[in-house]
Amino acid sequence: MNQTRSHTAALPITIRRLTKRYGPLYALDRVDLDVRSGEFLTLLGPSGSGKTTLLMALAGFTRPDDGSIRFGTEEVIRRPPHKRDVGMVFQNYALFPHMNVQANISFPLRLRKVPARDIDERVREALARVQLEGLGERRIDQLSGGQRQRVALARAIVFEPRVLLMDEPLSALDKKLREHMQIELRRLHESLGMTTVYVTHDQREALTMSDRVAVINFGRVMQLDTPRKIYDLPANKFVADFIGESTFLPVEASSGKAWCQGRELLLADSVSVGGTGRQLLMLRPERLKLLPDEDAADDMNVFRGTVAQIAFQGESMLVVVRLEDGTEVGVRGVTRQQEMAAVPEVGGHAVLGLDRRDTVLIPDDDDAGGGR
Ligand code: ADP
Ligand code: MG
Repeated sequence: MNQTRSHTAALPITIRRLTKRYGPLYALDRVDLDVRSGEFLTLLGPSGSGKTTLLMALAGFTRPDDGSIRFGTEEVIRRPPHKRDVGMVFQNYALFPHMNVQANISFPLRLRKVPARDIDERVREALARVQLEGLGERRIDQLSGGQRQRVALARAIVFEPRVLLMDEPLSALDKKLREHMQIELRRLHESLGMTTVYVTHDQREALTMSDRVAVINFGRVMQLDTPRKIYDLPANKFVADFIGESTFLPVEASSGKAWCQGRELLLADSVSVGGTGRQLLMLRPERLKLLPDEDAADDMNVFRGTVAQIAFQGESMLVVVRLEDGTEVGVRGVTRQQEMAAVPEVGGHAVLGLDRRDTVLIPDDDDAGGGR
């Protein structure tokens, strides 16, 4: 699924020191980013982190203050949008409401002076790609939200651009349709293979769809990695906090060892404790186990506490455990009836186990990502 396919028309994008200021605010702060040829790369970050600004700079609608954007070997920073060979899909469709589907999709072809005899055929192909065969004559206001977004997508790909940019294209759709479209978009990308930069603030969407994810905050790239690495080995506290759920415990590091709550930590083989001083241990609810007692801990780090809360959540159950130092930690487990016996009562004593292989330290970078 997450294989990048090569495509003759796809291009790598090289972004260097890209900076955009609005008054004192750095919407983009010296961004370096390499998008591989044909890859599906997602910009993921909270609202206001600079995702749209970066996409608009790639499309040519925003003029950065400094830096460079190359498509392949060509510098495009001064090139206007219509000369960048970029297809673009926005959150709010941006279709022409007074034109029918056919006219909307053929618009970029007419703009590019494609001969009239080729236009019908290419629109038909694009409609088929987004599964809207036969709807060319429909008016835009006769379409559902999902169908409109498919029209917008067809219009973005009909001229076979070398780069496809999408800014939260699914966020106006309801959850079921959104999840369906995520899979369709991914399939479409696999068959077209164009270099794709996708923007979302939805971490699950980013992890589901992307070859790689760039986590953005304060106009900076906090981490660029595969979805699995982003989730399992976040580079800093911001990424660990933003992706998935986690609690952090302070860790003291010295001479290659790490101490947490008075005990030495067993660490994953891949982890080496660098430096001295404070780091953080990341605890994810689905990586912790409730153990009957400490003897059941096999190659695990153990944490003791009392059960503060138990919440049934359908497919899983969340148990909140208050550790001896007062930190509350979530433990998520399956709700199969036979495993319920292992769950203590609220107020009861709880022993948590964290497998050595899941024991990941993160730099304590509370000051990272603040101002400049
Ligand atoms: P995102 O898409 O991640 O939500 P944006 O790229 O839209 O973030 O915005 C990044 C920052 O730049 C925000 O603080 C936003 O308020 C600011 N910003 C964006 N566009 C403008 C503008 N035209 N004028 C002033 N500030 C802007
Ligand atoms: Mg935005």
